[in-house]
Amino acid sequence: MTTTTIIPPTGARRSSICSISSTERAVDNDPHCPLCNPGDTLVLANEHCLYLQEPHAVLVGSGIIVPRKHRPSAFDLTPAEWAATYDLLQEVRAKLLRESQPEGFNLGWNIGSTAGQEIDHAQLHVIPRYADEPYAGKGIRHWLKQPENKRPG
Ligand SMILES: [Zn+2]
Repeated sequence: MTTTTIIPPTGARRSSICSISSTERAVDNDPHCPLCNPGDTLVLANEHCLYLQEPHAVLVGSGIIVPRKHRPSAFDLTPAEWAATYDLLQEVRAKLLRESQPEGFNLGWNIGSTAGQEIDHAQLHVIPRYADEPYAGKGIRHWLKQPENKRPG
């Protein structure tokens, strides 16, 4: 059983995107990366990972699990970071079930800008879903499967 520690905010704010290039692999910390310096978005943590949440008017309760170290994508996580992601995900699930009783979840990694990754630091999106949402019943692949998303040729 992993013990989760709630760490007080440091006061740093998300203010920029990472400046590290994708050819530079995992480094311990990027001073310009908002996910290396999460500030008051930090909600839960364990040895290798953090759970971050920002207030969101639509995706209420959603957040991201990120490695503490600056890893460009999920493919760069160490086995220990994968295990810590799993452990923290279980705790996040319990917290969300306790606080808002979602009927489902979407979990997802966006890897690369083509796939929608906006910050060059691995992040597992945890999105609680509710039966009374207008998009209830639509999953992660829904938008990608639309005919207008077909590649040319
Ligand atoms: Zn980072």
